[in-house]
Amino acid sequence: MPIAPDATTTLRDLISDGGWVIINCDNTACGRRVASRLPAFIAKYGPRASSNVVRANSVCSVCGTKGCTLTAPSWAGADKGWAEFPGEGVEVTASNLSA
Ligand SMILES: [Zn+2]
Repeated sequence: MPIAPDATTTLRDLISDGGWVIINCDNTACGRRVASRLPAFIAKYGPRASSNVVRANSVCSVCGTKGCTLTAPSWAGADKGWAEFPGEGVEVTASNLSA
């Protein structure tokens, strides 16, 4: 589920949803989607920083585009919790997000 760019959504708010996000490159021709843990962003920007700082400051390592959208991991069910973190910087695909 895409996370709406809402100035009131802080990095601390997002960490309760599995502790990681999918960073989607703003360049649709690129389409790179990578997993990233939130604590690194919290260490850099602080827990009260708007999630918009991540959207505005992320730079794609493939195409160099600055800016991204964020997607929260999926809920995999009461027995599993949030989708398992595939690894820092790992390209996110349908197959490695399966619960
Ligand atoms: Zn890109």
